[in-house]
Amino acid sequence: QDTKPDISRAKSAELYAKAKTFFPGGVNSPVRAFKSVYGTPLFIQKGDGPYLWDADNNQFIDFCCSWGPLILGHNHPHIREKVTEVMQNGMSFGAPTALENELAELILSNNPFIEKIRFVSSGTEAVMSAIRLARGYTKRDKILKFEGCYHGHVDALLVKAGSGLVTFGETSSAGVPKAFADETIVVSLNDKEAVAKAFEEFKDQIAAIIIEPVPANNGLLLQQPEFLQYLRDICTENGTLLIFDEVISGFRVSFTGAAGHYQIKPDIITYGKIIGGGLPVGAYGASAEIMGNISPEGPVYQAGTLSGNPVAMAAGIAQLSELLKPDFYTELNQKTATFVNDIKQFIADRSYPVQVFQIGSIFWFAFTEQQAIRRADEIDPQSMDKFKLMHQELLNRGVYVGPSGYEVGFVSATHTPAVLDKAKQAILDSLDVVFAS
Ligand code: PMP
Repeated sequence: QDTKPDISRAKSAELYAKAKTFFPGGVNSPVRAFKSVYGTPLFIQKGDGPYLWDADNNQFIDFCCSWGPLILGHNHPHIREKVTEVMQNGMSFGAPTALENELAELILSNNPFIEKIRFVSSGTEAVMSAIRLARGYTKRDKILKFEGCYHGHVDALLVKAGSGLVTFGETSSAGVPKAFADETIVVSLNDKEAVAKAFEEFKDQIAAIIIEPVPANNGLLLQQPEFLQYLRDICTENGTLLIFDEVISGFRVSFTGAAGHYQIKPDIITYGKIIGGGLPVGAYGASAEIMGNISPEGPVYQAGTLSGNPVAMAAGIAQLSELLKPDFYTELNQKTATFVNDIKQFIADRSYPVQVFQIGSIFWFAFTEQQAIRRADEIDPQSMDKFKLMHQELLNRGVYVGPSGYEVGFVSATHTPAVLDKAKQAILDSLDVVFAS
């Protein structure tokens, strides 16, 4: 395979130059700046089903899907119609509406892991609130997190591991007080020994363990169910709450997320963007007893002017109603598995040193010979050069994936087998180019 000529990015480049005069780095969220890949970021003008069009009118099959929420693809007619209908009556009241009840009922009556929920407007907000709830409930301060899990830009969680088995974190962003990082213990994923050691060292001080049960922000670091069960057990033994951050896995690997997939009941679950079908929504939920600590019922303060916004609720109702249809997940997960298995077969035939990991409709390419990657430090940063080239080749062949090799891909219901076949060919051709160089 030869490398493909570059698509035109003239209009995107022009927009980016202007954006740089308005926004730091020209963007409103850092990964969009394409710093880890070649070329200018693409400015998007339209999405429909599995497709995206950029400002230069290049068309792509999209596997970023707005970083996950678009499980029904772009511009789904039911979501668009419901949102348009609700908007006729006004867009925000800062007062309760029946739509909040409707969305909450859809979620709670189909999810045995939580009894009460609170809607917020982003994943970061959901996590920040869940942490405060855990601290308020347990009357403890320390949080244990895992290296390689991302939980939004919450101060106490912008913390990375120092050296050693169990470490207090070092802040991973300027502007986070060291005192905050001192309350966060960071250990490696898939490391029971380190978790046990943390509980020995900080007995009766740990309010919560927070984990992405399907870690999908630093590659796809699939955990063994025994490890998640171990966390469940050690939390129960120590009066610590287990928080599953399901901002990506919730309503994605199954309607009941990773908790349902692994049949492990955390104490608090955070959800994000997927609830809003593309509009800003997040949520956190727990037992009625734990949620009873949230204001105005209890002493843990948490609020939001746009929380439960009617337009966002409308999008959520339309999206989740589709997800509850019989066989929705079976079909979506099955076609993703077929797509991934065909690619794996091709890779095996050619003995390329690359793996494709998959769970449900999430997949990730890892440029390594290693058969399983469960910890962040098992990813070789050098391997990202290969991703960079692959990204370029994919764009030039009409396939859009997140602009970083640490990001996962998402398949939507609108990615038909024919669309997936087309994307697969582009992926195989791109891999040939990557491994010919
Ligand atoms: N938690 C997880 C697991 C996430 O993946 C993300 C964002 N991708 C967040 C929290 C933060 O969500 P948001 O970007 O909506 O604030």
